Amino acid sequence: MIEEDFETTLKVIVVGNGKVGKTSMITRFAKGVFTDDYKKTLAVDFLEKRTTLKSTGEEITFLLWDTAGQEEYDAVTRAYYKGAGAAIVSFSTNDRNSFDAVERWHNKVAEECGPIAMALVQNKVDLLDQAEMSAGEVEGLARKLSLKLYRTCVKDNLNVSEVFEYLGDEFLRRG
Ligand code: GDP
Ligand code: MG
Repeated sequence: MIEEDFETTLKVIVVGNGKVGKTSMITRFAKGVFTDDYKKTLAVDFLEKRTTLKSTGEEITFLLWDTAGQEEYDAVTRAYYKGAGAAIVSFSTNDRNSFDAVERWHNKVAEECGPIAMALVQNKVDLLDQAEMSAGEVEGLARKLSLKLYRTCVKDNLNVSEVFEYLGDEFLRRG
């Protein structure tokens, strides 16, 4: 019997306020690099990354879409959300506004995409000494929104691939 080589493709969108590390996260996961200069123009449309999921050994191709500098809820176009099978809602440890914006980003994704796989990502945990929110607040918000929480440091490559593994697993599990 000849087995079909089905290719699973998953569009992942990454939302959250400006400068929380969205572009860095996509670039880190897809290319394995981190660059420290903040350039709005660095934004890419999307990057592709093929991975074998550790859990099931299944092959999956992530299409990682960047907001390309559209950092306001209303500025992000419909096309950005269209066809997304998973979403990362991100904020930064040293930016209270980005944390306060999480719920609106989450609601926007739910509105545009329906109940897709989603993770809450607290990035820049290397800056915990400058944290503008408590661990309890973060956990409370994750519970309230029923989101799986990841604390990442894109800079030191901490927990980044775990987020994508989770989203890949969730996406496949939901069929
Ligand atoms: P975006 O606007 O959400 O796409 O954010 P960027 O990816 O452009 O990152 C904004 C700035 O935060 C850049 O200077 C990054 O180098 C920096 N950055 C990203 N992740 C981390 C991290 O984990 N720790 C620290 N200290 N800086 C980070
Ligand atoms: Mg960016």
